[in-house]
Amino acid sequence: MRLAAIHDFADRSEGLALPSSPIEGYASIVLYDVIIVGGGPAGLAAALTLGRARRRTLLLDNGPRRNAAAAKIYNFVTRDGTPPDAFRELGRAQLERYPKVETQDARVSTIGGSLGAFRVALVDGPTLTAKRVLLCTGMIDERLPLPGFDAVWGTHAYQCPYCHGWEVQDQRWGFLLLPGQEAHALPFAALLRGWTDRVTGFLAEGAALPDAVRDQLAGLGVQLEGAPARLVTEDGALAAVELSTGARVAIDVLYAHPPQRQVELVRALDPELDEQGYVRVDAATGETSIPGVHAAGDLTTRMQAALLAAASGSRTAAAMNLALAMPTAPEQPSATPPGSARSAAGTAG
Ligand SMILES: Cc1cc2nc3c(=O)[nH]c(=O)nc-3n(C[C@H](O)[C@H](O)[C@H](O)COP(=O)(O)OP(=O)(O)OC[C@H]3O[C@@H](n4cnc5c(N)ncnc54)[C@H](O)[C@@H]3O)c2cc1C
Repeated sequence: MRLAAIHDFADRSEGLALPSSPIEGYASIVLYDVIIVGGGPAGLAAALTLGRARRRTLLLDNGPRRNAAAAKIYNFVTRDGTPPDAFRELGRAQLERYPKVETQDARVSTIGGSLGAFRVALVDGPTLTAKRVLLCTGMIDERLPLPGFDAVWGTHAYQCPYCHGWEVQDQRWGFLLLPGQEAHALPFAALLRGWTDRVTGFLAEGAALPDAVRDQLAGLGVQLEGAPARLVTEDGALAAVELSTGARVAIDVLYAHPPQRQVELVRALDPELDEQGYVRVDAATGETSIPGVHAAGDLTTRMQAALLAAASGSRTAAAMNLALAMPTAPEQPSATPPGSARSAAGTAG
């Protein structure tokens, strides 16, 4: 079936009982208003907003979850201390009362087409169509070449003290400084001192601090150590950092910011990124450099937290709803603000 025909049919069929799920192996006869890729806090919040606005919405989610290693999500008002899986189950359950929202455990392999007629192909599944696409795919944390780190990531090694600081306050905290992160050393150490007065900084191979910063850290009571060689655990708990000299520094918790990358689907789509590698979006609409493709949540910012991602998803969904509601000017393909005429043709995930 030609996409234009799908478009016309779906537009005329608002209010009719269309099939609620796609026919396996064939392009969907449903033209969704929005397909959301990624069902974390950003995607769930966006689906809720679009569902309440009566937009035909499909939420697709499958793959590794960033916070899967953590036992609980903290610092999310009304959900403080909720396990990540329970959070997602609750989010999906709350979507069930909105008949125009569907959710599927499916991985998106490619996104093609352009504004008004995107083609979203599933791994081992059909190709679906949507007027607009919302990327909520999060970020991938790269593995650190530090033996023992993976085993404690999410249980004794964290990225954010607001998320996982209260429970371990007054314990022996360490923070890892990687090359390129030197400018964060002083503000991050000063921040950590709010939770404990026992803070040690570990300078990874290649990271260097000027004497003035070292003096300021010493003034805060922060101890500085050299390059860690491995993390030592005892009964599954973090016990110490072993330095390349062989000496051991006892700690209970380690904070670190591993480098991050976009998921393969986003890298293949190739939207404009900022200098830190996050997807650049219009501040008002959340639209990327590809017209009709929006993005929300972790993949757009270094300010990463579940509540912030959810807020970003909801705000972007509202902007997309308005764009869908606006009349289309004859000379323009849609109500999208003028921008580049890029499409998402032929991307591979
Ligand atoms: C160890 C750890 C602990 C954390 N603890 C907290 C905490 O306590 N409190 C807090 O506020 N924040 C915490 N965070 C941060 C928080 O998890 C993130 O900020 C939040 O999950 C971001 O939400 P998101 O929706 O943008 O992305 P994500 O939650 O990462 O969701 C993205 C989803 O998209 C899916 N996806 C990706 N590609 C595809 C594809 N091609 N097809 C289909 N699906 C796809 C992924 O599988 C994933 O399910 C923690 C992070 C880590 C790493």
